[in-house]
Amino acid sequence: MDETSYDEGAAEEMRAGVGREFDLAPGWGSVKLLANNVPILSPTAEFTLTSYPDSLQRLVDSLQALPGIGIRTAERLAFHLIKLSDDEALQLARAIHDVKQNLTHCSICFNFTEKDPCPVCTDPQRDKGIVCVVEQPKDLMAFEKAGAFKGVYHCLLGHLAPLEGIGPENLTVEALLKRAAKGGVREIVLATNPDLEGEGTAVYLRDQLAEVAAAKGIRVTRIARGVPAGAEIEHVSGAILADALNGRQSFDGSKP
Ligand SMILES: [Zn+2]
Repeated sequence: MDETSYDEGAAEEMRAGVGREFDLAPGWGSVKLLANNVPILSPTAEFTLTSYPDSLQRLVDSLQALPGIGIRTAERLAFHLIKLSDDEALQLARAIHDVKQNLTHCSICFNFTEKDPCPVCTDPQRDKGIVCVVEQPKDLMAFEKAGAFKGVYHCLLGHLAPLEGIGPENLTVEALLKRAAKGGVREIVLATNPDLEGEGTAVYLRDQLAEVAAAKGIRVTRIARGVPAGAEIEHVSGAILADALNGRQSFDGSKP
Protein backbone atom coordinates (compact mmCIF):
# COMPACT_ATOMS: atom_id res chain seq x y z
CA MET A 1 0.00 0.00 0.00
CA ASP A 2 1.50 3.37 -0.98
CA GLU A 3 1.34 6.44 1.20
CA THR A 4 -1.47 8.16 -0.76
CA SER A 5 -3.87 5.26 -0.68
CA TYR A 6 -3.17 4.71 3.05
CA ASP A 7 -4.09 8.32 3.87
CA GLU A 8 -7.17 8.07 1.67
CA GLY A 9 -8.23 4.90 3.48
CA ALA A 10 -7.83 6.48 6.90
CA ALA A 11 -9.74 9.58 5.83
CA GLU A 12 -12.51 7.42 4.42
CA GLU A 13 -12.77 5.57 7.73
CA MET A 14 -13.00 8.87 9.62
CA ARG A 15 -15.70 10.22 7.36
CA ALA A 16 -17.72 7.08 7.88
CA GLY A 17 -17.53 7.43 11.65
CA VAL A 18 -17.94 11.18 12.09
CA GLY A 19 -21.26 12.31 13.39
CA ARG A 20 -22.41 8.84 14.28
CA GLU A 21 -24.06 8.58 17.65
CA PHE A 22 -23.79 5.48 19.83
CA ASP A 23 -26.17 4.64 22.63
CA LEU A 24 -24.51 3.61 25.88
CA ALA A 25 -26.00 1.41 28.60
CA PRO A 26 -29.52 2.40 29.73
CA GLY A 27 -29.44 5.70 31.59
CA TRP A 28 -25.89 6.57 30.45
CA GLY A 29 -26.87 8.73 27.46
CA SER A 30 -24.96 8.53 24.21
CA VAL A 31 -21.65 9.47 22.65
CA LYS A 32 -21.02 11.21 19.38
CA LEU A 33 -17.91 10.64 17.30
CA LEU A 34 -16.24 13.95 16.41
CA ALA A 35 -14.06 14.66 13.39
CA ASN A 36 -10.88 14.18 15.44
CA ASN A 37 -12.12 10.71 16.37
CA VAL A 38 -12.61 11.64 20.04
CA PRO A 39 -15.95 10.46 21.39
CA ILE A 40 -17.71 12.97 23.65
CA LEU A 41 -20.79 12.65 25.79
CA SER A 42 -23.64 14.11 23.82
CA PRO A 43 -25.16 17.29 25.31
CA THR A 44 -28.40 15.35 25.53
CA ALA A 45 -26.92 12.79 27.92
CA GLU A 46 -29.24 12.30 30.88
CA PHE A 47 -26.41 12.68 33.41
CA THR A 48 -22.67 12.86 33.68
CA LEU A 49 -20.56 10.66 35.93
CA THR A 50 -19.37 12.52 39.00
CA SER A 51 -18.02 9.56 40.95
CA TYR A 52 -16.94 5.96 40.48
CA PRO A 53 -19.27 3.05 41.24
CA ASP A 54 -19.76 2.79 45.02
CA SER A 55 -17.27 0.01 45.80
CA LEU A 56 -14.52 1.61 43.70
CA GLN A 57 -15.18 5.05 45.17
CA ARG A 58 -14.91 3.59 48.70
CA LEU A 59 -11.55 2.04 47.80
CA VAL A 60 -10.25 5.33 46.32
CA ASP A 61 -11.47 7.24 49.41
CA SER A 62 -9.81 4.74 51.78
CA LEU A 63 -6.51 4.92 49.91
CA GLN A 64 -6.64 8.70 49.75
CA ALA A 65 -7.02 8.83 53.53
CA LEU A 66 -3.52 7.29 53.87
CA PRO A 67 -0.62 9.66 54.61
CA GLY A 68 1.11 11.07 51.53
CA ILE A 69 -1.52 9.72 49.10
CA GLY A 70 -3.27 12.27 46.91
CA ILE A 71 -6.28 11.65 44.69
CA ARG A 72 -4.18 10.74 41.60
CA THR A 73 -2.07 8.18 43.49
CA ALA A 74 -5.20 6.79 45.18
CA GLU A 75 -6.82 6.27 41.76
CA ARG A 76 -3.66 4.69 40.34
CA LEU A 77 -3.42 2.29 43.30
CA ALA A 78 -7.13 1.46 43.12
CA PHE A 79 -6.93 0.63 39.41
CA HIS A 80 -3.88 -1.52 40.13
CA LEU A 81 -5.76 -3.36 42.90
CA ILE A 82 -8.67 -4.05 40.54
CA LYS A 83 -6.27 -5.92 38.30
CA LEU A 84 -5.09 -8.25 41.10
CA SER A 85 -6.28 -11.85 41.11
CA ASP A 86 -8.81 -12.79 43.82
CA ASP A 87 -6.02 -14.56 45.74
CA GLU A 88 -3.69 -11.57 45.64
CA ALA A 89 -6.45 -9.19 46.68
CA LEU A 90 -7.45 -11.44 49.59
CA GLN A 91 -3.81 -11.74 50.68
CA LEU A 92 -3.58 -7.93 50.91
CA ALA A 93 -6.90 -7.64 52.74
CA ARG A 94 -5.84 -10.40 55.15
CA ALA A 95 -2.47 -8.74 55.82
CA ILE A 96 -4.27 -5.52 56.85
CA HIS A 97 -6.76 -7.49 58.97
CA ASP A 98 -4.03 -9.60 60.67
CA VAL A 99 -1.94 -6.59 61.55
CA LYS A 100 -4.96 -5.06 63.27
CA GLN A 101 -5.81 -8.33 65.04
CA ASN A 102 -2.37 -9.54 66.13
CA LEU A 103 -0.20 -6.50 66.64
CA THR A 104 0.16 -4.87 70.01
CA HIS A 105 2.74 -2.71 71.80
CA CYS A 106 5.40 -4.36 73.97
CA SER A 107 4.53 -3.50 77.58
CA ILE A 108 8.20 -2.75 78.32
CA CYS A 109 9.56 -0.87 75.28
CA PHE A 110 6.34 -0.07 73.34
CA ASN A 111 7.71 -1.47 70.09
CA PHE A 112 5.15 -3.25 67.89
CA THR A 113 5.05 -6.95 68.66
CA GLU A 114 2.88 -10.04 68.29
CA LYS A 115 4.25 -11.43 71.56
CA ASP A 116 4.45 -9.36 74.75
CA PRO A 117 7.20 -8.70 75.88
CA CYS A 118 8.84 -8.34 72.47
CA PRO A 119 11.78 -10.47 71.24
CA VAL A 120 14.27 -7.63 71.91
CA CYS A 121 13.19 -7.20 75.55
CA THR A 122 13.30 -10.98 76.17
CA ASP A 123 16.64 -11.56 74.38
CA PRO A 124 19.16 -12.67 77.06
CA GLN A 125 22.04 -11.42 74.87
CA ARG A 126 20.82 -7.82 75.07
CA ASP A 127 22.31 -5.38 77.57
CA LYS A 128 19.25 -4.24 79.57
CA GLY A 129 21.44 -1.58 81.23
CA ILE A 130 21.45 0.65 78.13
CA VAL A 131 18.11 1.99 76.92
CA CYS A 132 17.93 3.77 73.58
CA VAL A 133 14.94 6.13 73.46
CA VAL A 134 13.45 6.55 69.96
CA GLU A 135 10.36 8.33 68.67
CA GLN A 136 8.81 5.51 66.63
CA PRO A 137 9.11 1.74 66.13
CA LYS A 138 10.45 2.47 62.63
CA ASP A 139 13.39 4.33 64.21
CA LEU A 140 14.05 1.27 66.38
CA MET A 141 14.05 -0.81 63.20
CA ALA A 142 16.60 1.54 61.63
CA PHE A 143 18.96 0.98 64.60
CA GLU A 144 18.38 -2.78 64.39
CA LYS A 145 19.16 -2.81 60.66
CA ALA A 146 22.39 -0.93 61.38
CA GLY A 147 23.19 -3.78 63.82
CA ALA A 148 25.37 -1.53 65.95
CA PHE A 149 23.29 -1.39 69.14
CA LYS A 150 23.11 -4.28 71.58
CA GLY A 151 21.11 -2.60 74.32
CA VAL A 152 17.31 -2.32 74.58
CA TYR A 153 14.88 0.37 73.45
CA HIS A 154 12.08 2.62 74.56
CA CYS A 155 9.62 3.89 71.92
CA LEU A 156 8.01 7.21 72.81
CA LEU A 157 5.38 6.73 70.08
CA GLY A 158 5.82 10.29 68.86
CA HIS A 159 7.46 13.55 69.86
CA LEU A 160 6.35 16.61 71.77
CA ALA A 161 4.48 19.04 69.49
CA PRO A 162 2.67 21.62 71.64
CA LEU A 163 1.22 23.40 68.59
CA GLU A 164 -0.46 20.15 67.51
CA GLY A 165 -1.60 19.49 71.07
CA ILE A 166 0.82 16.57 71.61
CA GLY A 167 2.10 16.71 75.18
CA PRO A 168 4.06 14.29 77.39
CA GLU A 169 0.79 12.56 78.36
CA ASN A 170 0.36 11.47 74.73
CA LEU A 171 3.78 9.78 74.74
CA THR A 172 5.22 6.96 76.87
CA VAL A 173 7.25 9.37 79.03
CA GLU A 174 5.71 8.17 82.31
CA ALA A 175 6.62 4.56 81.51
CA LEU A 176 10.22 5.61 80.72
CA LEU A 177 10.55 7.38 84.08
CA LYS A 178 9.17 4.32 85.88
CA ARG A 179 11.56 2.09 83.96
CA ALA A 180 14.51 4.25 85.00
CA ALA A 181 13.37 4.31 88.65
CA LYS A 182 13.03 0.53 88.74
CA GLY A 183 16.81 0.14 88.65
CA GLY A 184 19.22 -1.82 86.47
CA VAL A 185 19.61 0.96 83.89
CA ARG A 186 23.12 2.47 83.56
CA GLU A 187 22.61 4.69 80.53
CA ILE A 188 19.69 6.24 78.65
CA VAL A 189 20.54 7.30 75.09
CA LEU A 190 18.17 9.96 73.77
CA ALA A 191 17.87 9.13 70.05
CA THR A 192 14.95 11.36 69.07
CA ASN A 193 15.22 13.00 65.63
CA PRO A 194 17.65 15.92 65.30
CA ASP A 195 14.81 18.26 64.21
CA LEU A 196 12.98 20.93 66.18
CA GLU A 197 10.43 18.59 67.80
CA GLY A 198 12.97 15.83 68.39
CA GLU A 199 15.41 18.23 70.07
CA GLY A 200 12.63 19.70 72.20
CA THR A 201 11.58 16.20 73.24
CA ALA A 202 15.18 15.25 74.12
CA VAL A 203 15.63 18.37 76.24
CA TYR A 204 12.32 17.70 78.00
CA LEU A 205 13.30 14.09 78.71
CA ARG A 206 16.74 15.16 80.00
CA ASP A 207 15.06 17.48 82.49
CA GLN A 208 12.45 14.90 83.51
CA LEU A 209 15.09 12.20 83.94
CA ALA A 210 17.51 14.41 85.90
CA GLU A 211 16.21 13.46 89.35
CA VAL A 212 15.97 9.71 88.86
CA ALA A 213 19.26 9.72 86.93
CA ALA A 214 21.05 11.36 89.87
CA ALA A 215 19.41 9.00 92.37
CA LYS A 216 20.15 5.83 90.41
CA GLY A 217 23.48 6.83 88.84
CA ILE A 218 22.12 6.77 85.27
CA ARG A 219 24.05 8.53 82.51
CA VAL A 220 21.71 10.39 80.14
CA THR A 221 23.29 10.85 76.70
CA ARG A 222 22.25 12.22 73.32
CA ILE A 223 23.19 10.59 69.99
CA ALA A 224 25.99 12.47 68.21
CA ARG A 225 25.15 14.84 65.38
CA GLY A 226 27.27 16.28 62.65
CA VAL A 227 28.42 15.77 59.10
CA PRO A 228 26.80 12.62 57.67
CA ALA A 229 29.11 9.98 56.24
CA GLY A 230 29.62 10.53 52.51
CA ALA A 231 28.65 14.23 52.65
CA GLU A 232 30.88 17.02 51.35
CA ILE A 233 31.76 19.75 53.84
CA GLU A 234 31.05 22.55 51.33
CA HIS A 235 27.43 21.37 50.96
CA VAL A 236 26.67 20.94 54.66
CA SER A 237 24.68 23.68 56.45
CA GLY A 238 26.33 25.95 59.00
CA ALA A 239 24.22 24.57 61.86
CA ILE A 240 25.34 21.01 61.12
CA LEU A 241 28.99 22.07 60.85
CA ALA A 242 28.71 23.82 64.23
CA ASP A 243 27.22 20.62 65.69
CA ALA A 244 29.99 18.55 64.16
CA LEU A 245 32.66 20.80 65.66
CA ASN A 246 31.02 20.77 69.11
CA GLY A 247 30.76 16.97 69.06
CA ARG A 248 34.26 16.32 67.68
CA GLN A 249 36.12 13.22 68.85
CA SER A 250 39.71 12.01 68.99
CA PHE A 251 40.63 9.48 66.35
CA ASP A 252 40.24 6.69 68.90
CA GLY A 253 36.60 7.75 69.40
CA SER A 254 37.03 9.48 72.78
CA LYS A 255 35.91 13.07 73.42
CA PRO A 256 38.68 15.73 73.42
ZN1 LIG B 1 9.99 -4.73 74.06
